[in-house]
Amino acid sequence: NHKLVVFEDVNELYNLAQIRRDFVANASHELRTPLTVLSGYLEMMIDMPSEETQMWQKPLDQMFHQAKRMQSIIEDLLTLSSIESDVLLKAPEAVAVDDILQIMARDQLAIYGEDYEWHFEIAEHLGLKGYAEPLKSVFSNLISNAVRYTPKGGKIQVRWYRDQQGAHFEVQDTGIGILKEHIPRLTERFYRVDTARSRDTGGTGLGLAIVKHALEKQGSFLAIESQIGKGSIFSCVFPAERVLTLKD
Ligand code: ADP
Repeated sequence: NHKLVVFEDVNELYNLAQIRRDFVANASHELRTPLTVLSGYLEMMIDMPSEETQMWQKPLDQMFHQAKRMQSIIEDLLTLSSIESDVLLKAPEAVAVDDILQIMARDQLAIYGEDYEWHFEIAEHLGLKGYAEPLKSVFSNLISNAVRYTPKGGKIQVRWYRDQQGAHFEVQDTGIGILKEHIPRLTERFYRVDTARSRDTGGTGLGLAIVKHALEKQGSFLAIESQIGKGSIFSCVFPAERVLTLKD
């Protein structure tokens, strides 16, 4: 029951897309400050329990938790709109992907080192000509999804390597897996297989949309292979002409 709108002029469609992007970016930006104030006061009340606030402790915790969720959604919406627009205006730069991934590996091991069997295979001196921030979003979203959708005790492998085709980034997990019919829709904004699970683990439903757009800007795209109950592989290839060999 969708209404079909026919655009005579393709520019009109581009303008509409631009208006939508600007609106989302502005609305998100406007919501940031009030939310910071809200969660700031809530945090203060939680940290200073008194006779009066004691009976409110549980609702206060809930409110703080929800305010934090809203903040994550807003941050993701802002990331998405900055990837869709700003990034194009700047010139691509040399990005030390190996260093970025080493730091991420260290952080994951510090937080979840005990919970998973981790394998990091990161080729040294392998970088890209591109945009650092969107690339970081790609890596961090795919790695944090592997953590969030893999029960503790599972195995997570992260690979960064090169071959004739280009540079490959891959995250493989032994997690819950995804039914085939969902795969084509995972990169849509707010599309989730299991909304409750996504929320409980701190998901915003925007992660893979960010990954998709960020990869497009790097001349790459996301490939997803998955088997329910066995695990998933999220991977992408960056074309050879964007691959850099970095010096120390
Ligand atoms: P979310 O914040 O909900 O994780 P994403 O856009 O990152 O949003 O992912 C969209 C959906 O794809 C998730 O809700 C989840 O159902 C599914 N998904 C993503 N990564 C994995 C994974 N590694 N294993 C299983 N399912 C996944």
